[in-house]
Amino acid sequence: MNFDLPPETETMCAAVTAFARRDLGGPKSYDPELFDHDDFRRRWRLAGRQGLVGATAPSAHGGCGLDALTATALMEALGAGCADTGFAFSIAAHLFASVMPIVEFGTGEQQQQWLSGLSSGELIAAHAITEPNAGSDILNLTTRAECSGDHWVLNGVKAFTTNAPVADLFVIQAATEPGGGYFGLTAFLVPAGTPGLLVGAPHDKVGLRGSPTADVHLTDCRIPLDWVLGGVGAGASVFAGSMKWERTCLFGVYLGAMRRVIDSTIEFVGERTQFGTPIGEFQSVGHRIVDMVATLQSARLQLMLAAWELSRGADGTVSSGLAKVAVSEAAVKIGLDAVQLRGALGVTAGDAETLLRDALPARIFSGTNEIQKNNIARALRVGRRARPRR
Ligand SMILES: Cc1cc2nc3c(=O)[nH]c(=O)nc-3n(C[C@H](O)[C@H](O)[C@H](O)COP(=O)(O)OP(=O)(O)OC[C@H]3O[C@@H](n4cnc5c(N)ncnc54)[C@H](O)[C@@H]3O)c2cc1C
Repeated sequence: MNFDLPPETETMCAAVTAFARRDLGGPKSYDPELFDHDDFRRRWRLAGRQGLVGATAPSAHGGCGLDALTATALMEALGAGCADTGFAFSIAAHLFASVMPIVEFGTGEQQQQWLSGLSSGELIAAHAITEPNAGSDILNLTTRAECSGDHWVLNGVKAFTTNAPVADLFVIQAATEPGGGYFGLTAFLVPAGTPGLLVGAPHDKVGLRGSPTADVHLTDCRIPLDWVLGGVGAGASVFAGSMKWERTCLFGVYLGAMRRVIDSTIEFVGERTQFGTPIGEFQSVGHRIVDMVATLQSARLQLMLAAWELSRGADGTVSSGLAKVAVSEAAVKIGLDAVQLRGALGVTAGDAETLLRDALPARIFSGTNEIQKNNIARALRVGRRARPRR
């Protein structure tokens, strides 16, 4: 086993952390009603110039062509530097859930049309599959796409779409054969501004507040036949492909955020004095910090293993599911510990309570942790009778 990242990756990651710390500070307000579109775009373009928003897209289309392991390290570096984890999450969702499906499933023309803008930071994308009544039960969509001669007509509502309020392009999933199971869904590339596509008001969330999220309403939205992504009936494959990237690389952002908060917590317990001594001198405080470091380290090793497998094209159902659960649960635990170690200061605005709030959605998006465990148990054939020995 070799745990070293190549020196050029280390150098790139250090530069990204420094850039994010310097240039990607959060917005003036996280209130969705005061959402500053211009400032979000400004920071997005800066991230684009650093190669972040197209990191895994091919260089022929303006990306950096990174593999999954290097991209996970890059996301970790971004999360370590960017105090606005929501913004980093938006970048990762754009890249892994929208750009990569176009890389893996797009036609030459679609790639030509969209990838360079999406990789440079000029364009932002969103992937909309969840509906008000179809979350975990993702094959049961009620959004319909009906083929009517030389065009498709989309009708329905997509819920909780990351980046919807800022997106230039939507990957929209709809049922082309209701009740058709895995092959009943189709993905479409629909530009913002297409008549019949309307984005709702941004949601006010407990965490990831720097990442704008909204519902998308489709009412008799007519689109050309060649806006299908990946072929009719391939929507679930497109989605599964995007989740393969998201469950590994995106969670690198959380590794960086945890590291940042552990560092600030170590600093805090060295400065905060009670009973005439820095509280870090108390054994229970020191042990709690050691437990935080151990939790991060084991989550990190699981995520890097999953990313390494993805880089090699292995089926990552088990390793990426385990890693997704480990990283999201670690973020909640480390957030709670960081709050506790700050005493009352921990529940006032600061990086500890922010990590805790940002960690809560991580147990839900990319497939809830319960659904990950269902998938892992299925992959391990739990509950199936052993085959009789011959
Ligand atoms: C910050 C954030 C960003 C998101 N971004 C996007 C996006 O960009 N695009 C998009 O399409 N969606 C997005 N989502 C939606 C997300 O994918 C869904 O929230 C998620 O799939 C869960 O669906 P749900 O919320 O409807 O919960 P439900 O499916 O209703 O689940 C509710 C609870 O029941 C449990 N449950 C359900 N079924 C089972 C089962 N079979 N076994 C055990 N437990 C079960 C779940 O684990 C959960 O605890 C986002 C969500 C969040 C929080």
